[in-house]
Amino acid sequence: MPQDISAVPAANTANIVGAGLSGAVIARVLAEAGHKVTVFESRDHIGGNCHTERDAETGVMLHRYGPHIFHTDSEDVWQFATRFANFKRFHHKVRATSRGKVYPLPVTLATINQFFELALRPDEARAFVAGKADSTINAPRSFEEQAQSMIGNELYEAFFKGYTQKQWGRAPSELPASILKRLPLRFTYEDSYFNHKYQALPENGYTDWIAAILDHPDITVRLKQPFTNQQAQDGEHVFWSGPLDGYFGYSQGRLAYRSLRFENFTGEGDYQGCPVMNFCDADKPYTRVTEHKHFAPWESHDKTVYSVEYPFECGPEDTPYYPVRLVEDKSLLQHYVSQADQTKGVTFVGRLGTYRYLDMDVCIAEALQTAAQFLEAQSTQAPMPAFVHPPL
Ligand SMILES: Cc1cc2nc3c(=O)[nH]c(=O)nc-3n(C[C@H](O)[C@H](O)[C@H](O)COP(=O)(O)OP(=O)(O)OC[C@H]3O[C@@H](n4cnc5c(N)ncnc54)[C@H](O)[C@@H]3O)c2cc1C
Repeated sequence: MPQDISAVPAANTANIVGAGLSGAVIARVLAEAGHKVTVFESRDHIGGNCHTERDAETGVMLHRYGPHIFHTDSEDVWQFATRFANFKRFHHKVRATSRGKVYPLPVTLATINQFFELALRPDEARAFVAGKADSTINAPRSFEEQAQSMIGNELYEAFFKGYTQKQWGRAPSELPASILKRLPLRFTYEDSYFNHKYQALPENGYTDWIAAILDHPDITVRLKQPFTNQQAQDGEHVFWSGPLDGYFGYSQGRLAYRSLRFENFTGEGDYQGCPVMNFCDADKPYTRVTEHKHFAPWESHDKTVYSVEYPFECGPEDTPYYPVRLVEDKSLLQHYVSQADQTKGVTFVGRLGTYRYLDMDVCIAEALQTAAQFLEAQSTQAPMPAFVHPPL
C-alpha cells in the first residue's frame, strides 16, 4: 500500500503547544535527539498548572494552581525527574474538618476510632466498618450508593458527601458509581496521603524544575503566544497539550471541566499546622485550605500564605482544572476524538489534550512514551497517531 506521506513526521523540527510538564518533557527528549523544537505557551509563565512562584512579600513558595506533590512508583519517571532538580523527600499529610472536629485523611484507624469514639484494633475496625456498610445495595448506581455500600452512611456523610457535592457541583446521588472505584480506607495509623515509593518536591519549586527541563539550546520557548490550528504547517509535527476541543475551535461545544478560584491570605506564624485541610461540610462553600510554606519544611519563614479553594463550573474564560467526564461529556468527547483521528500532523497529549485527570508522574511517563514513538515513527517512516494515549 502507498504510504500517506502527509502523515509522516518531517525530520528535525516540531512545534509543541503548552509549556506545562507534558510539553516540556516531549520538547526535551526531541531536542536531545537532535530536533529543533519551538514551545508555544499562551500564559506569561512556563510550568502549566504545576507553576510555583515565590511570594514577593513573604518569600514563601506558592503553588499558584493548587497544591502539588510529586509521587511515583516508576523508576524511569523518578530518574528523569531528578535529572533536572534536587527533590526533597516529602510525605504529604492531609487533615479534614468535619462538623467542627479535625481528623486524619484518608480515613485511617485513627479517623475511625476518633469519629466513633472507640479504641478498635485493625481487625476489629475492619469488621466494624463492614457492619456499617449497607449490604442491601448489591449493584450501586451512583457515587452515593457506592460509598454507602463500602463504608456505610455515617462515614460517607461526614467525610465524602458534602465535599463531593462541592467538588463536582452535583449531588453524589447523580454522579456515577465509577468515580468511586476505591475508597481510600486504611486500617492502620499510617496517615501519609500517598503510598508511592518516591514522594518528594523539587527544592526550588516546580517552575524552576520545568525551566531546567526546557533549558536546551535547541528548545525555544515563546511565552504569551497562543497557538491555533491555523498555525499548524505541513511537515512540522504539532504536539498539542492544550484543550482537545480548543484545537477544533469548540465547534461542537465545550467539554465540561470544573475550575477553581483561590482566595489568598497572608498572616504571621502558622495558620493551620498542616499543608492541606479539607472542609467536608456542605455549609462551607470552600473545599480546602492550602498553607504553602508547609510544602517546603526545609525553608524557614516567619510569615505565612494560605489559599482558600472554591470549585465552580468552568466557563469559556475560566481555567480548566478537572475534566468532568460524565455520560454527556463522553459523547462530545467521542466526536472530538473522531475529528482528531482524521487530522494529520497533530498528536494530542497531556491532561487537556486527552481530557483526562493525570498526575505529574503519569504525565511524564506518557510524554516519554509519546516522544519515543515519534522518534521511532520518523526512523521507520510510519505515521504518528493523533493519540498515543487515547482519551476513551
Ligand atoms: C488542583 C490540582 C492539584 C493537583 N495536584 C497534583 C499533585 O499533588 N500531584 C500530581 O502528581 N499531580 C497533581 N495534579 C495534576 C498536574 O497538575 C498535572 O499532571 C499537570 O499539570 C499536567 O501537565 P500538562 O502539561 O499535561 O498540562 P498543563 O499543566 O495544563 O499545561 C498545559 C499548558 O498549555 C497551555 N496552553 C493551552 N492551550 C494553549 C494554546 N492554544 N497555545 C499555547 N499554550 C496553550 C496552558 O496555558 C498550559 O500552560 C493536580 C492538578 C490539579 C488541577
